[in-house]
Amino acid sequence: MRELTVALPGRESSYRVRLAWGLRHRLAAELEPLSLPRRLFVVTDQTVARLHADQVLAGLKAGGYDPHLLTVPPGEKSKSWRQVTALTRELLARGADRTTALMALGGGVVGDLTGLVASLFMRGLPLIQVPTTLLAMVDASIGGKTAINLPEAKNLLGTFHQPRLVAIDPEFLQTLPPRERRNGLAEILKAGFIREAELLKRVENLGPRLFQDRESLAEVIFRAAAIKAGIVAADEREGDVRRLLNFGHTLGHALEAASRYRLPHGQAVAHGMIAALCLSRRLTGLSAGACEAGVRLIRNLGLARRPPGVPPEAVLAALGHDKKRQAGELVFVLLRDLGAAEIVRGVPLELVAEVVPR
Ligand code: ADP
Ligand code: ZN
Repeated sequence: MRELTVALPGRESSYRVRLAWGLRHRLAAELEPLSLPRRLFVVTDQTVARLHADQVLAGLKAGGYDPHLLTVPPGEKSKSWRQVTALTRELLARGADRTTALMALGGGVVGDLTGLVASLFMRGLPLIQVPTTLLAMVDASIGGKTAINLPEAKNLLGTFHQPRLVAIDPEFLQTLPPRERRNGLAEILKAGFIREAELLKRVENLGPRLFQDRESLAEVIFRAAAIKAGIVAADEREGDVRRLLNFGHTLGHALEAASRYRLPHGQAVAHGMIAALCLSRRLTGLSAGACEAGVRLIRNLGLARRPPGVPPEAVLAALGHDKKRQAGELVFVLLRDLGAAEIVRGVPLELVAEVVPR
């Protein structure tokens, strides 16, 4: 068992991130120290339900819990106000009250949506995160961000609602399609780039063996989760430290938006990270060798191998929108070295235009 504590300053209580192979069978024991009510609602999507819900529910039942399953359609579309209402009414119809706990079993979509419902239902229910995608394990399930999308923008409506526990079972990943694995790999590299060069080395040395070697996979997920946990504990909301998690995302988000979200998040972030490495050469003194090593690592994992297929003008226009929201400045996370990041404000658009992937 690997374990870390997300120590939060202020009023909110700290919580643990626990990781072990096969943990999904033993969730009842994981919940025991939290003294939650026995009645528990597990929210998931139809794909994860089909693959994994039986085992999770059986384990909870065997451990003395009374779990009820709620499912939403898979995919980003479920991060909607409609689903918030539908889940809330379903919870009411099934007798949920202010003592009920919610468990999010799924990827970032299920986690963000369930988190939002948990923060709103009768002003707040306890939430357990059980991430089933690599991206959710190393990123989305930790830190307490919840959100749904509106037609105007992604993640526009959201809250901070910290989970009581994050329980990670890497075995869920055995059914995860390669495209979704790559989305998570991009976030693992991001964590390494901003905080831990050694994590990059480890991923590089493992290469394609990463998903075959249980022990290494567990360790890599744990290291990346620990980086995320360390950053959100230092800075629970959106100060400069937490902003470091945006490495590759300034341009990544613009690419996603300009592609009308056809480009997968991991691919967009990978292109964004390469652009940020190039900017770091110019603005924060990243060495040529470190830059090349970073780009090679990204490409070797099957990321940013092809041009994003989005006109650079559209990407720059999307960046311009973002710029308005940040008081007229383009803000980038750049590297001094692999594992050492800083926030750079006022990056000229002309310079960005030179590194936009094409
Ligand atoms: P993310 O975690 O990247 O934000 P989603 O929550 O949308 O993304 O999950 C991505 C897709 O992977 C969804 O279609 C979801 O149903 C599916 N999925 C989630 N976990 C698993 C799993 N362990 N095995 C197979 N498919 C999964
Ligand atoms: Zn991301």
